[in-house]
Amino acid sequence: MTGNASTVTATSTATARPAAIEVHDVHKWFGGRRVLDGVSLTVEPGTVTVILGRSGSGKSTLLRVLNHLEKPEAGHVSIGGELIGVQRHGGRLKELRERAILAQRGRIGFVFQNFNLFPHLTVLDNVAAAPVATGRLSRPQAQALAQDLLRRVGLGDRGGAYPRQLSGGQQQRVAIARALALRPGVILFDEPTSALDPELVGEVLSVIKDLATGGTTLVIVTHEIGFAREVADEVVFLHEGRIVEQGPPAQVLDHPAHPRTREFLSKVL
Ligand code: ADP
Ligand code: MG
Repeated sequence: MTGNASTVTATSTATARPAAIEVHDVHKWFGGRRVLDGVSLTVEPGTVTVILGRSGSGKSTLLRVLNHLEKPEAGHVSIGGELIGVQRHGGRLKELRERAILAQRGRIGFVFQNFNLFPHLTVLDNVAAAPVATGRLSRPQAQALAQDLLRRVGLGDRGGAYPRQLSGGQQQRVAIARALALRPGVILFDEPTSALDPELVGEVLSVIKDLATGGTTLVIVTHEIGFAREVADEVVFLHEGRIVEQGPPAQVLDHPAHPRTREFLSKVL
């Protein structure tokens, strides 16, 4: 790892292996409204972090900052030991060039609440599109990979279908396969089951659970507390743009210390 303007080595871990994600004192404002208020968070490689918090607490904004979709006003984020976005120290401002940002974004998969599949592409091409567009794979290579990934999410026989022909649960599984196609180091999920009919939630959680046990680094915003208890290594509770409580599920979910966490859990459980 080099130490030039766009790349630094994470120093906060004692081991040589950098954190998968390191968020340091991130502040984000929208107009006069403070949405992230000094968030710091470390995600170790191969772990699952679940982010909880009521609507408007800043969960989506935090994920979007991790993926360069939003720029923080202050603080910084490292992915795999590489600094991303903006760093502001003593008035100095460093920004990555757009190309470097795109390259880093390819290392992070993002699964949205509403799937966001390309409606005019087949399921297979939805999954194959990004590796071709970024020049990583030829079209036949990308299609072979896409077929493998569709099999992995239980949709090996639906590659020729269009998104509208699938159920919401199947569309979300395609979206997960699409996120995997860039072989990201980290996958971010923003309420991946919130838009689904209740009977379709299980099939999507089961695919995410497989990724978790396979050692992929995951950050998941969800209100599925049972799922969080089962898969999370770390649960983070966000309230008004601050992390007010954080720890293993047995601690945060079963013995919450903060009144806001207790109040939240009493409503969703
Ligand atoms: P959550 O995902 O926890 O529901 P969000 O991160 O979406 O919360 O939003 C946190 C706050 O920031 C909300 O008050 C929301 O209205 C506001 N917000 C989010 N995105 C924008 C934006 N692009 N412009 C202005 N306000 C925004
Ligand atoms: Mg949200």
